[in-house]
Amino acid sequence: MKKIYITRQIPDLAAKMLQEKGHEVDVSQKDGVLTREELIAALKAKPYDAVLCLLTDKIVGAVMDAAPTAKIFANYAVGFDNLNLVDAKQRGVLFTNTPCVSMSNSVAEHALALMVSVGRRIVEADQFVRDGQFVGWAPMLFVTPDLVGRTLGIIGLGRIGSRLAYHGARGFEMKVIYYDVVSNEKFEQEFGAVRKATIEEVLRESDYVSLNVPLNDSTRGMMNRERLALLKPSAVLVNTSRGPVIDEAALVEVLKEKKIAGAGLDVFEHEPALAPGLAELPNVVLTPHIASATWETRNEMAKIAAENIIAVMTGQTPPNLIQ
Ligand code: NAD
Repeated sequence: MKKIYITRQIPDLAAKMLQEKGHEVDVSQKDGVLTREELIAALKAKPYDAVLCLLTDKIVGAVMDAAPTAKIFANYAVGFDNLNLVDAKQRGVLFTNTPCVSMSNSVAEHALALMVSVGRRIVEADQFVRDGQFVGWAPMLFVTPDLVGRTLGIIGLGRIGSRLAYHGARGFEMKVIYYDVVSNEKFEQEFGAVRKATIEEVLRESDYVSLNVPLNDSTRGMMNRERLALLKPSAVLVNTSRGPVIDEAALVEVLKEKKIAGAGLDVFEHEPALAPGLAELPNVVLTPHIASATWETRNEMAKIAAENIIAVMTGQTPPNLIQ
């Protein structure tokens, strides 16, 4: 029997799967993220063999050292910018994540929802009605461009980006262009998507830009002041990747000056804090990092995280090893 620690309450499925294999499972009872000190204290309480952690847990050397018997930290997320891979390698600790079809579906759906909400000014219009300002149909009220037939620029055509591109191409007959460090020729052929040589070309040509890259050294601050300035005045920028991919203060300026039409953000540079002025802007739609929050995805994430731990506990390579 192995000892497993789960750093926050997640769907019961993970604990059940681990218990069915005969393992002892402890789940943090705190209603919120454990501080670094709390996490270290919790891991020191027992000689844990595995830890199921969340993207809100920063797993660095000091945390790993608090659980020296833990062979795996199974991240309950597809992104893994909260894990220090160098520290893990030095200690021989394995990291895993939870990529899955339902995750890609739910995040792509959310990105699409943000595109439609900002592009068609749904949230502003909702507020207008609630404020009692709707006095009757008017031909020039909240007039916006259609999404149909416009250009969708995807930055990072991976699992989520390609799913969003599919919805754009098939659902809204959008022209898809993308920038990625690797090309996806199969997708290009199937959906008529065009890979651009530079991110700048995508930004200049797109009506909608969606960021779908992981957060790493190559993408941190990718959407800086200079690149934001390349967007069309009618462009809508959507971010469901990670907040630090955008210079949020620069984005606030661009939005304030109406240099782009609007932005839809699910993630924030200094999450959960927002850049000063962001929440006051009418041309943004903000959601609290919920792009993957569907029952299907939450359960599948729990299942995958548990499967990764079960594999390592039986001496196998976990299916979603991060290398
Ligand atoms: P993925 O690895 O399948 O796709 C990422 C793509 O980005 C890849 O095609 C990769 O080649 C490309 N890329 C990497 N660095 C790049 C760079 N510098 N320039 C251009 N392209 C680059 O990942 P995914 O499953 O599609 O997820 C993408 C990210 O979405 C995750 O890393 C995570 O941070 C984020 N995410 C957010 C939520 C949410 O709740 N908002 C949920 C899931 C995932």
